Amino acid sequence: MSSITPLVRPNIAALAPYSTARDEYDGPIGVFLDANESPYGSGYNRYPDPHQAALKARIGGLKGIPTENLFLGNGSDEAIDLVFRIFCVPGQDNAVIIAPSYGMYGVAAATNDVAVHPVRLEADFSLDTEKLLGACNAQTKLVFLCSPNNPSGNAFPRAQLLEICDRFRGVVVVDEAYADFSGQGSLVPEALVRENLVVLQTLSKAHAMAGLRIGMAIASTEIIRLMSRVKYPYNLSRAAMEQALLLLDHRIDEEVVTLVRERERLAAALPAFPFIRQVFPSDANFLLVRVDDADALYAWLLDQGIIVRNRSHVPGCESCLRMTVGLPAENDALLNALENYPI
Ligand code: PMP
Repeated sequence: MSSITPLVRPNIAALAPYSTARDEYDGPIGVFLDANESPYGSGYNRYPDPHQAALKARIGGLKGIPTENLFLGNGSDEAIDLVFRIFCVPGQDNAVIIAPSYGMYGVAAATNDVAVHPVRLEADFSLDTEKLLGACNAQTKLVFLCSPNNPSGNAFPRAQLLEICDRFRGVVVVDEAYADFSGQGSLVPEALVRENLVVLQTLSKAHAMAGLRIGMAIASTEIIRLMSRVKYPYNLSRAAMEQALLLLDHRIDEEVVTLVRERERLAAALPAFPFIRQVFPSDANFLLVRVDDADALYAWLLDQGIIVRNRSHVPGCESCLRMTVGLPAENDALLNALENYPI
C-alpha cells in the first residue's frame, strides 16, 4: 500500500471497470461478432484500442516515459476531471488551486461538487509556498499547480514545486501544458519516482494538435491504473490516434525555437508603446501584457482582425490582455496594429 491508497475515494477503489469486447479478445484476425459493430468497412466501423497501445508506446518512447506511467486522455482536460473524480468525495473534500490560473480546475471541481480554495499569487505572479500549504486542511486531497502558469506565463522554480510535493500529504498536480516553451525543464522524471505527483502534458500546444484532443498524465503506476479504470473505455478515437501517430513523425524542435524567439521579440518590442505598462516575463507561448485600457485595446485589435484574450476581468490580471505568439508575419501584424492604435 502506498501513501496514496488511503486518499482514493472508497467507491473508486472498489470499482469494477467496464470490460470491453476488445479487452476479452484483441487478436488481429478473426470474424468479429463480439462488439455489435457494423461489419461494413468504413475505416472506422471497429472500436478503437481502449488501451491505446500504439500511441502510448510512441509518446512514451518520445518522452522517455514507461507506458505503465502514462495515461492518455481526451485532452488534458479529461485528466483534470479524472483526478477530481478519483480523489475527492463530492461535498466533502476540497482542492487548493492558485489564482489566477487555468479556469478548468475550478470548472472540473464545480461539476464534481468539490470546493476549491484559491490561493492568490503575488503581484509578480510568484507563489508563496507557506500561503499555499496554509490553505490546505484535512479535507484537501489535491493541490493544482500550473507551470508555466496560464495566464501569467511564468514557471515556478523546480525546487519550490518539489518542496510542495514533499510537504503536502495529498496529491500534487503540476500542469505542464506549456513546458516545451520553458527553459525550466519538466517534472516528468520526478513523477516516475514519487507517489503523490501527477504531471499533465498535452499535444495541444507545442505539438500543434489541439484539434485532435490528446492530453496525458504522467504519474505512479498506481495512479495511472486508477485513471485507466475510471476513464470512458474508448476515450480516444481511432481517427485522433491515427492522425497523432502520423503527425508525431514531424519534429517540432525548430517550431519551438522560432516561437520562443518570436516571444522574446514581442517582449522586447511591446514596452515601447506608451499605452503598454508592463509585459510579464513568460516561459510559455503567450505574453500577459498590462495596458492602460484593456477593453479599448482589445476592441481596437478585434477591429483590425486580431483576436487576443481579454483577461482584464480576472482578479490579479487587471488591465491585462493575453497575446499568443503566432507566426512571425502574424506577430508583425500585431505590432503593426499597435503602431496604428489611436491613443
Ligand atoms: N492546461 C492548461 C494550462 C491550458 O492552458 C490548457 C488549454 N488552454 C489545457 C490544460 C488544456 O489542454 P488540452 O487541450 O490538452 O485539454
